Amino acid sequence: MTDRMTAAEWEQMKSNVQKIVASLEICWKCQCVAECAKHIIGNVVMVWLCTGCAEQMERPRLQEGQTPRRTVKQKASARDLL
Ligand SMILES: [Zn+2]
Repeated sequence: MTDRMTAAEWEQMKSNVQKIVASLEICWKCQCVAECAKHIIGNVVMVWLCTGCAEQMERPRLQEGQTPRRTVKQKASARDLL
């Protein structure tokens, strides 16, 4: 752990961080700060969506339709054991 960064490396890292920060947006749907992509709703409203929400928006019919996914996470199992 004795790596020392050169000034050039610092500059590079700084510009990388700036790029990443500039690409961060607050997701319109889940309000998370993430790398969002522009998404147009109904060809009118333009919003920023994170990857997960963008996927959901692209295929909403799949979720409403035949197989409603119920992802019930059983996190309480550990508590039940106590
Ligand atoms: Zn989101």
